[in-house]
Amino acid sequence: LTILPMMVFFLVLCLQITKSWKDREQNIDYVSNNDLMLKIPNRRSILQTLQNCMTSMQTDDYLSIIILDVDHFKSINDTYGHPFGDTLLIELSNCLKKTIRASDYVGRYGGEEFLIIMKDPTPESANELATRINAEFAKLVFTFNNVSFSKTVSIGYAFFPSDTDQIWKCIKFADLCLYKAKEIECNNCGHNWSISNEKMTDVNIATHLLLDAFNDRYDTAILISG
Ligand code: GH3
Ligand code: MG
Ligand code: MG
Repeated sequence: LTILPMMVFFLVLCLQITKSWKDREQNIDYVSNNDLMLKIPNRRSILQTLQNCMTSMQTDDYLSIIILDVDHFKSINDTYGHPFGDTLLIELSNCLKKTIRASDYVGRYGGEEFLIIMKDPTPESANELATRINAEFAKLVFTFNNVSFSKTVSIGYAFFPSDTDQIWKCIKFADLCLYKAKEIECNNCGHNWSISNEKMTDVNIATHLLLDAFNDRYDTAILISG
């Protein structure tokens, strides 16, 4: 009879240890896959999602990669301070979460750059989403010391596999479209701004690094590509 309380004690202890171990693992998993400030997937995680989408793609499926970047963001940090810049990024992240469709994915791709994966897009639906993001973000009003202003984002998007048959090229293509859109006019979005194949091949990245892209070393590949 005296051994029973001991057994119960050890059982409870084991259950508690297992639970705290699981909580710890979940915590580590969350921290390594999410941007803690913006509460959205980080670059590694959104690229992993892209990899998973690629794996499950059927012959007739399409994907759209949408990349967006805040226009003249540095001036916000310089004028109002880094913490205010952080607030603006949080607002943008919240705006994106509200604006994308339930089947889309968004993640922080870099400092003030975000990447959206659209499943089964049409040229119209991708353009419609990009235009809506432009409009929704531009509507937000920020106030600092009684000065009110709004900010804009520029957006580029590309389709896989219709624009290019390699997903890394599709990301690069969306990025080029973004910079072309920004060059033309801020608060703009664009696809296929007659970006030539020569420009694509100009992307000076060694092939083996690109092949590594989806084998854990994507960050290195992009870092080296500049
Ligand atoms: P452009 O219109 O050409 O995109 O110019 P920009 O000023 O937006 O871009 P630039 O690349 O010159 O500056 C981006 C800035 O974003 C520089 C960096 O300090 C800032 N930044 C990156 N991550 C964060 C962050 O988490 N918080 C804040 N506040 N700033 C950040
Ligand atoms: Mg940028
Ligand atoms: Mg910017």
